[in-house]
Amino acid sequence: MSNKKIAVIGGGISGLAAAYSLEEMAQRKGKSISITLFEKNNRIGGNILTERVGDFLIEGGPDCFLSEKPWAIQLCEWLGMGESLLRTNDEYRRTYIYWKGRLRELPEGIMLMIPTRFFPLLKSDLFSLAGKLRMGMELFIPKRKSGGDESLSEFVRRRLGQEIVERVAEPLVAGVHAENPDAMSIKSRFPRFVQMEEEYGSLIKGMLAKRKIMLNSESGKPKWTMFMTLKNGLDELPLTIVKALKMTTIITNKEVSEINKVSGYKIYLKNRDTIDADVVIFATPSYETGRLLRGLNSSISDQLDTIPYVSTATISLAYKKDSILHPMNGFGFLVPRVENRRIMGASWVSRKFSYRTPDDSILIRCFIGGSRNEELVFLDDKDMLKMIREELRDVMGISAEPILTRIYRWEKAMPQYIIGHDERVSRIEQSISKYPDMFVTGSAYRGGGISECIKNAQLTAESVLKYLNL
Ligand SMILES: Cc1cc2nc3c(=O)[nH]c(=O)nc-3n(C[C@H](O)[C@H](O)[C@H](O)COP(=O)(O)OP(=O)(O)OC[C@H]3O[C@@H](n4cnc5c(N)ncnc54)[C@H](O)[C@@H]3O)c2cc1C
Repeated sequence: MSNKKIAVIGGGISGLAAAYSLEEMAQRKGKSISITLFEKNNRIGGNILTERVGDFLIEGGPDCFLSEKPWAIQLCEWLGMGESLLRTNDEYRRTYIYWKGRLRELPEGIMLMIPTRFFPLLKSDLFSLAGKLRMGMELFIPKRKSGGDESLSEFVRRRLGQEIVERVAEPLVAGVHAENPDAMSIKSRFPRFVQMEEEYGSLIKGMLAKRKIMLNSESGKPKWTMFMTLKNGLDELPLTIVKALKMTTIITNKEVSEINKVSGYKIYLKNRDTIDADVVIFATPSYETGRLLRGLNSSISDQLDTIPYVSTATISLAYKKDSILHPMNGFGFLVPRVENRRIMGASWVSRKFSYRTPDDSILIRCFIGGSRNEELVFLDDKDMLKMIREELRDVMGISAEPILTRIYRWEKAMPQYIIGHDERVSRIEQSISKYPDMFVTGSAYRGGGISECIKNAQLTAESVLKYLNL
């Protein structure tokens, strides 16, 4: 057994995956280690929060992970949760965009924001003819000569034109990352788009090549859909990790208030207890890591503070099926900024995934806030529900009384990968490397989704074991 004590601060998916990977890797080498994980809340999971109300399953935070980034699915399989992985309902695989006062189908073949099929695009009423021609021109636009980062808007406008920016890219990144595409770094959020331009000279060619590889490698129905979730809710993942941990002590309801270093680390808890550790892994939001480190190294704190965060909220509303006339023939809708609405988008949860509602009901999950209109997150519950019901009335024609409502506010929960993000993170990593026994991981740095958090936690665990010579 290594007599070194490892402290993990933060019991979200990053902290839990780091502890699990440390144990797994150590075990494979026949070593045993001692980990203590501190979580300030009385529940683990961080942003992952599933609530069950009767036969309704409501995700307050994330509701799925991307299968293209394989680390979440891999971890579920390692944990013996393969049977719990749940696909989306293919028959509803459609997204709508609210444009000029009504919902219009995003043409089939637009992958992320890149068109790959000609006829559905031609028939679509979401774009003008000039806009469609401009998209087709992408095939002939030379790649950019100068390197350096660009905003998502600049990049997509340069390649595919303004209509794709305002009608697809902007609402997509506002809905998924709560980000403003005019400030978002293309290099950090969509590095493969930059690679595609570099490799194929065209995003359309790159996407088509990728699709061809996928089709050739998959005989029959692909095993996973683009979005995957867990049958009994996403919190099954953190809960299963906790059950699997054998060398980790989890302390919930204990907020770390400061970290200091004399020979080893001293971890101060809010209740004034102190705990010693030889290695510290911060799996907290970057501004929180900065706060904890201020007494030890204020220049690292300042650097960590340069990663901005925004707040968002999800509001789930359930209705009796027969009170809703809208066909909800898809996974949901997104609303472009130029439409000036308060809602950013909504998932038609009971269409997207099975096992979320009783048969006679439907569930809609709405998104608000983010860089677009953050102040809405702080409306009180009554005003929030009034506002969101007005939005659903205007967008989907729903005037029925919901039978169940839930509001989840996520204050400063969404890191913003603004232009120059990669360089900012590299500088932080370089400063932290002066402390070879201190590590940071989490959604603020190199990928903000669950799957990327898991991958980065695994890489962090590898670095810790290397430092410990295990
Ligand atoms: C509304 C919403 C929807 C999302 N949707 C998706 C999605 O569909 N798919 C997807 O892949 N990703 C999604 N994400 C992103 C995803 O949730 C995050 O990437 C991921 O959960 C981040 O995990 P984490 O462990 O890095 O951070 P967190 O989940 O923030 O965990 C950090 C933990 O540290 C604890 N902590 C903080 N300070 C202290 C302290 N001083 N002492 C002790 N503990 C402390 C916190 O309480 C928290 O539990 C969404 C995020 C939000 C907010």
